[in-house]
Amino acid sequence: MSIKANLYHIKSELPPHVTLVAVSKTKPVSDLMEVYNAGQRIFGENKIQEMVDKYEQMPKDIEWHMIGHVQRNKVKYMAPFVRLIHGVDNFKLLEEINKEAIKNNRVIDCLFQIKIASEDSKFGMEPHEASNIIQSKAFSELKNIKIVGVMGMATFTEDLNQIKNEFTLLKTTFDGFKTMESFNFKPEIISMGMSGDYKLAIDCGSTMIRVGSSIFGERNYN
Ligand SMILES: *Cc1c(COP(=O)(O)O)cnc(C)c1O
Repeated sequence: MSIKANLYHIKSELPPHVTLVAVSKTKPVSDLMEVYNAGQRIFGENKIQEMVDKYEQMPKDIEWHMIGHVQRNKVKYMAPFVRLIHGVDNFKLLEEINKEAIKNNRVIDCLFQIKIASEDSKFGMEPHEASNIIQSKAFSELKNIKIVGVMGMATFTEDLNQIKNEFTLLKTTFDGFKTMESFNFKPEIISMGMSGDYKLAIDCGSTMIRVGSSIFGERNYN
């Protein structure tokens, strides 16, 4: 199937409350334009430099989501335009995003990345680490960021039951956070589900899926 047909197929199956992020990392602008011309306006990238390059070349009504691990020293390059940063997993990073948001006179929306996979992943916070941040005075002083939800990645496994348990953990964590709302903490988004598991993720409460290879085809890293 063509890229466009893949997109239409996936979109036709999504419930209305679920947002599709088209994960375009490693793919050329011509491929992105194909889904843009089919109506897609939300794109996800996992490297800041690549996202900046594509932002400069593409129409300006696109919402750019940073879905990868973020290095603090690179936040400044995306701060003028990034729409949502999915992978915030420590307070220092949040402070840096806030600082760059001030320079750009804007508020930047972020998600807390929560560690849900049992495999040893370097990224993501434990739920209690996130709630400690949310309840701290230092967090309440960050006026130019807003945490609008959570993001998680399940273990890379064939075991659907395990994936389901991990997605359910993220949903439960989100529900717990709902009671801690404040001016810069308004959890509304649960970003979970990729090409291989997005249907299961939606069944478990996802409101935002990040789909790459099922739209653009397999990635070639050579
Ligand atoms: C690459 C990536 C995806 C998309 O993966 P596919 O399996 O190609 O759909 C989703 N989320 C993150 C964080 C990614 O890095």
